[in-house]
Amino acid sequence: MTSLDGLDELYKEVILDHYHHPRHNHDLPEADVSSAGYNPLCGDEMFLQIKLREGKIEDIGVRGKGCSISQASGSMMAEALVGKSLDDAKDVIGAVRTLLEDRDGRPVASRDAQETLGDLEALSGVRNFPVRIKCALLPWTTLEEGIMRYEEKHAGS
Ligand code: ZN
Repeated sequence: MTSLDGLDELYKEVILDHYHHPRHNHDLPEADVSSAGYNPLCGDEMFLQIKLREGKIEDIGVRGKGCSISQASGSMMAEALVGKSLDDAKDVIGAVRTLLEDRDGRPVASRDAQETLGDLEALSGVRNFPVRIKCALLPWTTLEEGIMRYEEKHAGS
């Protein structure tokens, strides 16, 4: 179990809520995209599936094991990406990567970015804990790899 000590109270609350009540925590039969990821630093595991419909993410299935930050991040990701196109999903993945890796201590955001990121903003608290960044990023990098493989396979079709 991860200690969330040092995280802002509000962020902690959001993360624990997603950890205890994970969204989209189910398998997806007939998924179009499947991807598994592992974070050896912490032992977190993530198995993700996407069902596409007319170019949009109709549903995401998130199965994982590991610390509260990795699992909460997966839950938040599913919630944020359902209904989006794969291109939009990649934009959000990029925004989260920036959010987590921008360690200058600047507050992330313009109000616009905060609105786009919603609950995901809670992940920004993890920036100050380098070991935890890999936990928070795991679902995002796992999904990104899955999308890339899917697009390679379907390129030119
Ligand atoms: Zn972890």
